[in-house]
Parts: sequence; structure tokens; C-alpha cells
Amino acid sequence: MKILQKNNKKLRRVADPITEINSDMRKLAVGLKKALLASGNGVGIAAPQVGENVRMIIVAIGSLSNLTVMINPEILKFSSDQSIAEEGCLSVVGEFGLVERANSITVEFKTLAGEVVTNEYKDFTARCIQHEVDHLGGILFIDKLVK
Ligand code: ZN
Repeated sequence: MKILQKNNKKLRRVADPITEINSDMRKLAVGLKKALLASGNGVGIAAPQVGENVRMIIVAIGSLSNLTVMINPEILKFSSDQSIAEEGCLSVVGEFGLVERANSITVEFKTLAGEVVTNEYKDFTARCIQHEVDHLGGILFIDKLVK
């Protein structure tokens, strides 16, 4: 799977909810994991980055050996405390910039098995998830750089 780059309009669409976790969706998850691992330096990826306009993200929780597939992720709660840190993106190769994000978030998502999970994430993982969920809204980190 090829990772689309920032000028591609497909990255700017609002992704559709996944209504059925079928074999296409399982294949997509496998393809996304492969693309993420092949990138060498990514810690998360969203389906729109490979041109699939559906609400699926994959985030490395702690390490790349713990890739978590999140289907239809919804951030239910953002902490009021925020931090500014540098981000990059597999779709914005070679550019990095400072983005302000909530330090902790509560996320609800479905697993590939269809189980609904609600979890709290903090710090770097919370940042990654916010970045990936932004992709589902057609938003790139370069849209939110701290001036
Ligand atoms: Zn990204």
C-alpha cells in the first residue's frame, strides 16, 4: 500500500464510519500495519493515508509490537491540560512542527473483533491518537502548527 502525500485531495476528505467489520476491513488493517511497519519511523497510521476513506486508525501503544487497531474511534473527552510537542507524519515526509494537544484523552472505539472499548490514554500515545483521528476529518498536523 502506498502512503499518499500531503497535496493529495484524498487526505482532505471526512472519512465514513465503518458499518460492518468484514474481510475487506480485516485486510485493510493488515495492509495498514504493513505500511506502518515498512515506513520505518511511523507510530501510527490512518486509513485515508492509503486512500481508503473509512474510519480506521492504527496506533503503536508503547511500542511497534503493540499495534492497536481502532475502528470508528471517538474522542469522548480531552483533558484541559495541553502540551506542545513536535510532530511529523508519513504523509508529510520531511516536515516537522510543533502542535498543541491535550495531555490525556478518553477514546471509544471498536476492535477488529467488534468489541467496544473505552480507554484513557496519556502523553505520547494520546498525542498519536489525536493526530490519527484528525486524519479521519481530513486534517493534517501542518494545519495546526503553533505559530
Ligand atoms: Zn499523520
